[in-house]
Amino acid sequence: MKHVIVIGGGAAGMMAAIGAAREGARVTLLEKNEKLGKKIYITGKGRCNLTNACDIAEFPEKIVSNASFALSALHGFDNTDTIELFESLGMPTKTERGKRVFPVSDKASDVTKALEKELRRLGVGIRFHAEVAQIVSEPVGTEPDEADLAASAAEESAKTAKAKKPSKKKKYTATARATGVQLRDGTVIPADAVIVATGGLSYPTTGSTGDGYRMASRLGHSVTRLQPSLVSLTTEETWCADLAGLTLRNAAVTYKDRDGRKIYEDFGEILFTHKGISGPVVLTATAVCGDNLAGGTAVLDVKPALTAEQLDARLVRDLSGGKAKQMGNLIGALVPTAFGEVLLRASGIPADKTAGEVTKEERRRLGLACKALELHIKCLGGFNEAVVTKGGVSTDEIVPQTMESRLVKGLFFAGEVIHIDAVTGGFNLQLAWSTGMLAGRKAARE
Ligand SMILES: Cc1cc2nc3c(=O)[nH]c(=O)nc-3n(C[C@H](O)[C@H](O)[C@H](O)COP(=O)(O)OP(=O)(O)OC[C@H]3O[C@@H](n4cnc5c(N)ncnc54)[C@H](O)[C@@H]3O)c2cc1C
Repeated sequence: MKHVIVIGGGAAGMMAAIGAAREGARVTLLEKNEKLGKKIYITGKGRCNLTNACDIAEFPEKIVSNASFALSALHGFDNTDTIELFESLGMPTKTERGKRVFPVSDKASDVTKALEKELRRLGVGIRFHAEVAQIVSEPVGTEPDEADLAASAAEESAKTAKAKKPSKKKKYTATARATGVQLRDGTVIPADAVIVATGGLSYPTTGSTGDGYRMASRLGHSVTRLQPSLVSLTTEETWCADLAGLTLRNAAVTYKDRDGRKIYEDFGEILFTHKGISGPVVLTATAVCGDNLAGGTAVLDVKPALTAEQLDARLVRDLSGGKAKQMGNLIGALVPTAFGEVLLRASGIPADKTAGEVTKEERRRLGLACKALELHIKCLGGFNEAVVTKGGVSTDEIVPQTMESRLVKGLFFAGEVIHIDAVTGGFNLQLAWSTGMLAGRKAARE
């Protein structure tokens, strides 16, 4: 019976272990923490948005890095399979706004409990406080991998038709085979296949401390640049701290880079924090634009449904309808009062000025502040607060149909350790489930 070792008992690792065990392999799951799925507990604000119920055809547009690489995994075990699996494990799910799927219980812990129960039923050997230091491997004779052979065959047949440009695809050759792992205490555990599911670098207190990147690069893999993603932005404007906790719904935000070029725009919720801004429209921008946001600006339009002229007409109505009212009070009819004070400051209108005293020029400036309030972005938040890591083991070096390394036979990758990431909405966990299941099944079979 084949022995498969899974490194990391997070979302991808647990799913990989289930996939391998269901294929009949003997599976050992090594987790350095004292329990499984420590990060799952904090997902979806403790409710775990475990997948998204949108059509699977819509998934690629939600995956920011290497969507095409993830397609085989996603189609082999998709969002409906995820829902069915959890339902079959006795954990009913519900679908909310934006097709986000949660456990009916609203408890992220139920997700881990369901998976742990299945791991136990399948007889997976789970070892806690088992920190893997490195993957043990041995050299093998060089042989081109299956994908390369297929590419060569395709090239050969194309030659017989028309003269064709030579393939630019880099050819990979496996020079080693994974034979087991070595724990931090020196113990070596032999295996026929090893799956690395150690996660990324975000929220390191959950155990995701980048160990898998080091293990992979020690074996010759390329690790692409690692950046925090789905993370809040720190702004120059310190007044954001005064509004910490305030959410503006239906805001349109245009992001510009440090040279003033528009790089992204979005519409939705923005949340003020002690250091700047967060919320869905900010998180997605960091996923899409990454570091390009630093030094740039976020331009807020808090009245996107109105044109500048319509907004001015509305202001004329509001101001003439409450001439004796102080602007600090009247502004609350337009936007939340605390944010309104910011708009008044930006337009140079004293809060104690009455509406009747506001000049045409001041009204114009207020309209402009509503439609184009500039926030200067200092930097992105760090890994401590990022939902995911952008970057990871290069997808060029992993076979998408199996998750096996092209460089080391018998070595598989799953989850966030791979250079794949998506926007919020349950897509990142689905990537972990899909790549985990594929790696597990293939590690047991190949
Ligand atoms: C606050 C927060 C909220 C989130 N909410 C959502 C959400 O609602 N929906 C969603 O889709 N995504 C969400 N995510 C993202 C999602 O949690 C991750 O994409 C997902 O957990 C990645 O799974 P993984 O198994 O690859 O890695 P992890 O979940 O990070 O698991 C890796 C595991 O490997 C273990 N490990 C690491 N190194 C070693 C080693 N050397 N030896 C042994 N074990 C090791 C770690 O202890 C850890 O248990 C959220 C993330 C955060 C931080």
